[in-house]
Amino acid sequence: MATVDVKCPLCESCKVVKFGTSPEGKQRYQCRNSACSKNTFLLEYTHKGYLPEIKQKIIEMTMNGSGIRDTSRVLGIGQNTVISELKKKNQKSKM
Ligand SMILES: [Zn+2]
Repeated sequence: MATVDVKCPLCESCKVVKFGTSPEGKQRYQCRNSACSKNTFLLEYTHKGYLPEIKQKIIEMTMNGSGIRDTSRVLGIGQNTVISELKKKNQKSKM
């Protein structure tokens, strides 16, 4: 098995191998660090949610009436990421 130039989002180990694709056709990776509890992950999935432009898109889509499920599917991020972004935004606007 060849290792790829990807780091595990949890333990930051480079012992990561390609592990097929997700149902959406995205590359899935597996962490080979035996001490790490993160088994498989999607690179895009784990990184996209933290980009400022994605955060902006979450807000825009929500204001346009998109639900959390739609937003996460269209942007290719987790529903939890969408929810936590919206929570952060709500907290800010209340102050
Ligand atoms: Zn790991």
